[in-house]
Amino acid sequence: MSSDIDIVLINTSHPGNIGAAARAMKIMGFKQLVLVAPKYFPHAEAEALAASAVDVLQQARVVSSLDEALMDVTTVIGTSARQRDLAAPLLTARECGTWLMQNRVGRTAVLFGEERTGLTNEALDRCHAYVRINTADEYSSLNLAQAVQIIVYELHLALSMSNPDIPQAHALLADDSAMEGYFQHLERVMVATEFLDPKFPKRLLSRLRRLYHRARPEVQELNILRGILTAVEKKIGSE
Ligand code: SAH
Repeated sequence: MSSDIDIVLINTSHPGNIGAAARAMKIMGFKQLVLVAPKYFPHAEAEALAASAVDVLQQARVVSSLDEALMDVTTVIGTSARQRDLAAPLLTARECGTWLMQNRVGRTAVLFGEERTGLTNEALDRCHAYVRINTADEYSSLNLAQAVQIIVYELHLALSMSNPDIPQAHALLADDSAMEGYFQHLERVMVATEFLDPKFPKRLLSRLRRLYHRARPEVQELNILRGILTAVEKKIGSE
């Protein structure tokens, strides 16, 4: 259902883009807009470009961090104009719709980055899959609100073709905040056991994040993993 999907705009610089994104969303039946630390909001330009979607702006959830935005979210999709060094599936906009219908569990968030810099590594590290809208080779960076329009159009198409009688996959998967709690615990133990030198972390944590995001552990499985970490901490006396 479109109400289970959050469109998350991170650190947006131009309020006009927030308004145009709200309009793009409403036209395709999406109402849940989440703004992470927008530069200017509320703003007259946002309202002007939202046209008849001012209600989406008024209901937008404004938060100060990605942690807050992803609280209770279980499936995260990142959008990027550039091909990044990513192990998670890189989807076209069309594939993104199909992927979501097959893989989403619980609340889903689709992340959009800042106009110039795109998504940060912190945001990319939270994703289960990435979408790159196909473009000409010469210039691949769409205007933010136009990127939102294409993605919500594809999600709208995919939702309208999906069979509502097929139950969603089991909703026992660990959500984003449980996963983040686990990653912090894992990092503490890796540092305490000197497996990880915090001065030279390289990409180790990102790689591990991808592994666990691929596995999509259930709450109970994550509890077992945390139990193992706690046992290690007890043994080495670092609790
Ligand atoms: N140089 C940045 C471009 C930022 S454009 C980058 O590499 O991503 C602002 C936002 O619009 C991006 O963070 C992304 O969310 C979205 N976007 C722009 N072009 C896109 C494309 N071709 N595919 C997917 N998302 C795109």
